[in-house]
Amino acid sequence: MEKRDYYEVLGVSKTASQDEIKSAFRKLAKKYHPDVSKEPNAAEKFKEAQEAYAVLSDENKRRQYDQFGHSAFTNPSGGFSGFDGFDFGSMSDIFEDILGGMGFGFSSSSRKSSNRARSGNDVLYHMTITFDEAVHGCKKDINLDITDECPECDGKGGFNSKTCPDCHGSGTITAEQRTMFGTFLTKTTCPRCKGKGTTFEKACSKCNGTGQVKKNKTITITVPAGVDNENRIRLSGKGEAGINGGPAGDLYIEFTVKDHELYQRVEDDIYIELPINIPDAVLGCVKEVPTIYGKVDLTIPSGTQSGSKLKLRGKGVENVISHRKGDMYVIIKVIIPTKLTKDEKKIFENLKDTMKEDKGILSKIKKFLNN
Ligand SMILES: [Zn+2]
Ligand SMILES: [Zn+2]
Repeated sequence: MEKRDYYEVLGVSKTASQDEIKSAFRKLAKKYHPDVSKEPNAAEKFKEAQEAYAVLSDENKRRQYDQFGHSAFTNPSGGFSGFDGFDFGSMSDIFEDILGGMGFGFSSSSRKSSNRARSGNDVLYHMTITFDEAVHGCKKDINLDITDECPECDGKGGFNSKTCPDCHGSGTITAEQRTMFGTFLTKTTCPRCKGKGTTFEKACSKCNGTGQVKKNKTITITVPAGVDNENRIRLSGKGEAGINGGPAGDLYIEFTVKDHELYQRVEDDIYIELPINIPDAVLGCVKEVPTIYGKVDLTIPSGTQSGSKLKLRGKGVENVISHRKGDMYVIIKVIIPTKLTKDEKKIFENLKDTMKEDKGILSKIKKFLNN
């Protein structure tokens, strides 16, 4: 196969700076590193990028390559002249960067991190509750399949810890890698102990050595009074089990509140529409109104207009944090009758006669029309 141009491999221009070359390689290494990549031919692509980087990151080799192309590194016998002085270590910061960030151990410093206690994942649970449950609070049982510490091995993953026979406790395996630049040593995380340096005489069969099992748990959630849509509560330590003895994650419950057939909630206030008839609006009345705390008698004053907003102080929702109660607003809707009995019609006609002399807005309109 024809060897690809090193600049093309890294996807940089011939005049690329060292920073550009380094960042291009970093990207490719992240994409194709065999330990993490799921791309086909990842290993080949990775090797290709590694090779290109080895040359272009070294000003001397880059100059030779610019001048002679690939033949710069081909000896007369047709083989590659080994880059004996090639320092693989100079790449290690890049790998540490890539692999460390993805949870893979690479060097001895990141080996520690694979042994490090880490807290478990947080879990988010969506809960739908009724309006009444949200307003007054409630207790709810939820069922979760959640990662828990394996009860068989106490989360350790096995029994009778011993030094890993493959890496002799170092957590890394040093392997010789032959490339066209010669042979150099690569350090990779020990696959047997995953960098821990220890294995078990007997792996735990219940958790397959992971130390964690999925467990179906029933958790009782106390929903505080006053929660609203998208509010979250946090249950500390009720998330997934920690790793290497780390603390468990948290469980978050996010609420969705179903609509109520009568009430509309805006922040901590509640709105309700109350239809009344014309005589009640004109003469005033007392109406029974359902609040979230029970029925109350609401006095509707005479002359109340349709659309008026009457306030019932403290009959709103108790704020989930401050515990202050919002108010309730009753929106009056005056119903204009569309069907009248004969008697009713007569009454309205009489009314019409007596109300001829209007002193309000209508007189202004009349005046306007007469001009
Ligand atoms: Zn090992
Ligand atoms: Zn176990």
